[in-house]
Amino acid sequence: MENNVDITADWIHGLIRDFIAASPHNTMRNKTEDPAWDDALVGFASGADPIWQQYKEYVGPFHWTPWEVFNQHCPRESAGAEELTVVSWVLPQREAVRTANRRAKRYPSEAWARIRVYGEEFNVALRRHVADGLHKAGHAAIAPMLVSNWTIVKSERFSYASCWSERHAAHAAGLGTFGLCDGLITAKGKAMRVGSVVARISLQPTPRPYSNHRAYCLFFANGTCGKCMDRCPARAITRTGHDKEKCRQHLARSREYVKKAYKFEGYGCGLCQVGVPCEAGIPVKSAREALERGELPPPPPPLA
Ligand code: SF4
Ligand code: SF4
Repeated sequence: MENNVDITADWIHGLIRDFIAASPHNTMRNKTEDPAWDDALVGFASGADPIWQQYKEYVGPFHWTPWEVFNQHCPRESAGAEELTVVSWVLPQREAVRTANRRAKRYPSEAWARIRVYGEEFNVALRRHVADGLHKAGHAAIAPMLVSNWTIVKSERFSYASCWSERHAAHAAGLGTFGLCDGLITAKGKAMRVGSVVARISLQPTPRPYSNHRAYCLFFANGTCGKCMDRCPARAITRTGHDKEKCRQHLARSREYVKKAYKFEGYGCGLCQVGVPCEAGIPVKSAREALERGELPPPPPPLA
């Protein structure tokens, strides 16, 4: 570590936005070398936030707290939970990519499949870039998704789940709430990808501007919508939620299609993320307007 730069929210925003603007990794690898991403939402959560403990109860005991993952992988930099901040970001899908996938009926558009593979490769590079940038500035940091023991485990509640969920980290960092299809609905909608880094830095946590973890989904807010059920070609979304196994099987089938139709090794789906009211914004009017006014609801009840 070279020096001890004071880290601010603006510094982190700059680190992420500059990488999006300048990194050669930011490409769909199509003929016209279009960028995969053009913007990011960024939020921060304290390592001492009680929500991490709630995730252990809600997702499963295998879901790491920031303290657990940081101290496993940075033993020489050991830190208390209150010394850690989770930096989370959302990369919203570009309009052209959403439009292409809106037309898809069974398997993903070429643009969407390219983002699933090459856009996520950029996201991996971004995780490394943020962790390295913080390290160079004198602050230990790790990307939980990139550590050697990150894994997917069987979960009674969710059939399977991972020991670090980027969507749950983003929810903790004030960036969105969960929809009927399990996707995270953010201020820029549900068509997006997420990333995070845990660092020994102290930053003001981003307030969570929602009253509960499903506040932005029309189905949970007022019993309407359910459009993601109709969009799913695998019938993996019902009124009771998202069947991860059906979804996984459809994703596996998409590999053959992508190879044959688009001539590269890829996969994807995301049909439930487009052509729906939550595609590119918060569809619940009262929640959207409250966010625009900067209003904060009373603290939410624990996840249950
Ligand atoms: S499509 Fe409708 S029901 Fe499905 S997640 Fe979005 S708002 Fe909720
Ligand atoms: S990703 Fe595809 S298969 Fe999975 S729930 Fe969404 S639409 Fe259905």
